[in-house]
Amino acid sequence: MKQYDYLLVGSGLFAGVFAYFAGKQGKKCLVLEKRDHLGGNIYCEETEGIHVHKYGAHIFHTSSWEVWDFVNSLAEFNRYTNSPVANYKGEMYNMPFNMNTFSRMWGISTPEEAKKIIQEQRKVIKGEPKNLEEQAISLVGTHIYQKLVKGYTEKQWGRECKDLPAFIIKRLPVRYTYDNNYFNDLYQGIPMGGYNVIVDKLFAGCEVRLGTDYLENKEEYDALAEKVVYTGTIDSYFGYRFGRLQYRSLRFETEVLDTDNFQGNAVINYTDRETPYTRIIEHKHFEFGTQEKTVITKEYPAEWTEGMEPYYPVNDEKNQELYKRYEALAAEEKNVIFGGRLAEYKYYDMDKVIESAFACVKKEFHGINIAADHR
Ligand code: FAD
Repeated sequence: MKQYDYLLVGSGLFAGVFAYFAGKQGKKCLVLEKRDHLGGNIYCEETEGIHVHKYGAHIFHTSSWEVWDFVNSLAEFNRYTNSPVANYKGEMYNMPFNMNTFSRMWGISTPEEAKKIIQEQRKVIKGEPKNLEEQAISLVGTHIYQKLVKGYTEKQWGRECKDLPAFIIKRLPVRYTYDNNYFNDLYQGIPMGGYNVIVDKLFAGCEVRLGTDYLENKEEYDALAEKVVYTGTIDSYFGYRFGRLQYRSLRFETEVLDTDNFQGNAVINYTDRETPYTRIIEHKHFEFGTQEKTVITKEYPAEWTEGMEPYYPVNDEKNQELYKRYEALAAEEKNVIFGGRLAEYKYYDMDKVIESAFACVKKEFHGINIAADHR
């Protein structure tokens, strides 16, 4: 009989949801986290009374009632609605592309007028769009592409739009209504008190060791628990034996400013190519803050190199093939559950990682009723 039922490697949302339900089942968990705090990428750092999203802006949105009900049992959510604004050389445009954007761009007022202009501009694309540039022009025409898509996307991916695949831009909503809400999901908001309120509740029953890298003493830690829930990078678990998976990273520059309101919105995108950052986040607006000072973060896209935070998996064939080889190894691993964005080499929004953890919990604890067991 080992000391713990589960060894949780990492303390992001995946491990947190697992820990929460394991606790409800009376299981004993040990959490190892290599950072000096719990929460993974949703962790908030408090500065000037403002909850700063340390690893990038996190807005909770979902269409799953099961997920929404669960997170609301852990924290009260405010009415924040993500409505980013784009700054193109001082011209301000609402996002996502909607009637407010079209009206500002062309001085028009009806959907019919907007559609007519876009239809006209789309004619330059003949046949199926072959790359991101053609796809964007076919969706929003040449003006919106030039001012709001091109520079931003090229900064983000470090590549010319002509060299990027068309499917990336399919995810950008285009609306012929005056609706600035970025997401289409049914539910949306920010937990009052910041995400740490949720994180603290998820790990409440666990023993925690911070600043501890599991892979540095893997065998010793494995001996402590019956099963491992691993949420770190999958290639590092297997000692990079087939090679390294690639990521895109980000660099954040955060500063405290002696003003109560710097930009009037939580998220402003800089869509020209010359401004080196892609967006500025003003954290207090996520919670309608009234503090005397403000905290802003400039977000710079960055090429990922060893030692940097791996943020986004690179969604190309080469990396997917490499991941598949690691996935096959993982399937053979006894008593180890691989979950979350790093172990599955997958971009997951928060609601999706919670859904995936629910599925894992249901498999692990047969007969568990998520809805009944979180109240
Ligand atoms: P993580 O949160 O990354 O947790 C993994 C943890 O494991 C980390 O804390 C890491 O330090 C630890 N770890 C790794 N290896 C080891 C090891 N060897 N030993 C010990 N510990 C280890 N989602 C939304 O829904 N809305 C948003 O607005 C949104 N914005 C985002 C913005 C950015 C910039 C990024 C990158 C993501 C965003 N997401 C957003 C997605 C969201 O962050 C993820 O869905 C979620 O955080 C994933 O949780 P996880 O548990 O899989 O991983």
